[in-house]
Amino acid sequence: MAKYVAEPFRIKMVETIKVLTREERVEKIKEAKYNLFNLKGEDVYIDLLTDSGTNAMSSAQWSALMQGDEAYAGARSYYKLMDAAKDIFGYEYIQPVHQGRAAEKVLFPTFLSQGKYAIANMFFDTTRAHVEIAGARALDCVVEEAGDTSLRVPFKGNMDVDKLESIINKLGPDNVGVVVMTITNNSAGGQPVSLHNMREVSSVCKKYAIPLCIDAARFAENACFIKQREDACKNMTIREIVKALFACADMFTMSAKKDTIVNMGGMIGIKDSNSSLILKVKANCISFEGFVTYGGLNGRDLECMAVGLYEGIDENYLTYRLGQMQYLADCFDEEGIPYQAPVGGHGIFLDAKKFYPQIPYYEFPGQVLNIELYKEAGIRGSDIGSYMLGNDPDTGRQLESINEFTRLAIPRRVYTQSHMDVIVEAVKNVWKRRDSIRHGYHITWEPPILRHFQAHLEPIEKA
Ligand SMILES: *Cc1c(COP(=O)(O)O)cnc(C)c1O
Repeated sequence: MAKYVAEPFRIKMVETIKVLTREERVEKIKEAKYNLFNLKGEDVYIDLLTDSGTNAMSSAQWSALMQGDEAYAGARSYYKLMDAAKDIFGYEYIQPVHQGRAAEKVLFPTFLSQGKYAIANMFFDTTRAHVEIAGARALDCVVEEAGDTSLRVPFKGNMDVDKLESIINKLGPDNVGVVVMTITNNSAGGQPVSLHNMREVSSVCKKYAIPLCIDAARFAENACFIKQREDACKNMTIREIVKALFACADMFTMSAKKDTIVNMGGMIGIKDSNSSLILKVKANCISFEGFVTYGGLNGRDLECMAVGLYEGIDENYLTYRLGQMQYLADCFDEEGIPYQAPVGGHGIFLDAKKFYPQIPYYEFPGQVLNIELYKEAGIRGSDIGSYMLGNDPDTGRQLESINEFTRLAIPRRVYTQSHMDVIVEAVKNVWKRRDSIRHGYHITWEPPILRHFQAHLEPIEKA
């Protein structure tokens, strides 16, 4: 029997959610043109679209919110956030921004331009977009194990260090503007990076004088995986592991909507207060986000982040958080239901290719499973496969993704074990009738970029 790690908190405020009937859901998803982004939130029972900004804040955060100092410049709330972030990460310069992609937009053009390359273990989609907007090219260099969903190794998010070094030599070190380590590796399924790997990447970067940037959205979940899985770190505290990880890099970008457990926020960190980047970051921040002491956020948001940074690295919380994913994974293992294993830190990535081998990538198996789960139980996940990948910009042809995932992202501190059991039951039922699904979907309308957010789909009906 799968074991659930009980919540290290109790519930003080609740929000009612409703369950539609199956008939109503069938109608709603049709009206939404079979795109789950087009559903109204209130027509969803368990919303697993994303873990980004969907977190439940604590009573400590809500009371800090009331302390928000809304001074335009030099607000008290700004200094609280500075103290917390400098304490946890050990960096000398911290710039608040309104979310992760704003950090990318402000920081990347300060060192990336036409002809440059950025190499990552794997780029998140907005991070890749901002590398390209700066005129540079983005290359992924994750370990090969990440592509095999049934291979259970502890650090599937790692950089392939030998390959990294050979790419640097091939491109010429002067042409590589930055190396990025995404922790955890979101696109590979929330898979962690080891401290050992981070250190190896750091020494390659030092050898070739290339700056190393951490994409730090899920830094705390990554640190907890390190404590659980990396022998050399098992006696370190989460805080020590976080310090050790960030000591390897020169800078970070962060979406605070994940492990900082707020609904909106982000940060840039620069380790060295003498860095020539700081003045450029300040200038870009003032143009794009707002003055440097608020960075597009309210004083009250800065307060919530300052508290959330500490709550997010609490070991009891993290043990519960990773335990929630492990519970889902153990329940799926009992039924032989395929997912990216071992389970990652922020959700479970069901292997839709193995649910529906009869459905080709251009009929979007990940989206098929997503729609089946909505019809079955009002659960909303997201396709991380060919439907999300889109078309080749040069030929216009549908690209084929390596994996066809349906991601069930779990918001932080929001759902209970009973909700997890509803998810397990729904996935089991959909798995049992997987052979009855004959065809997938085709797109009847799509915008030119990031089409998955808006496209219209229709079921394929064949004789
Ligand atoms: C969410 C995320 C981002 C972008 O952050 P937003 O707050 O959504 O703009 C960047 N990188 C990673 C790894 C993320 O998960």
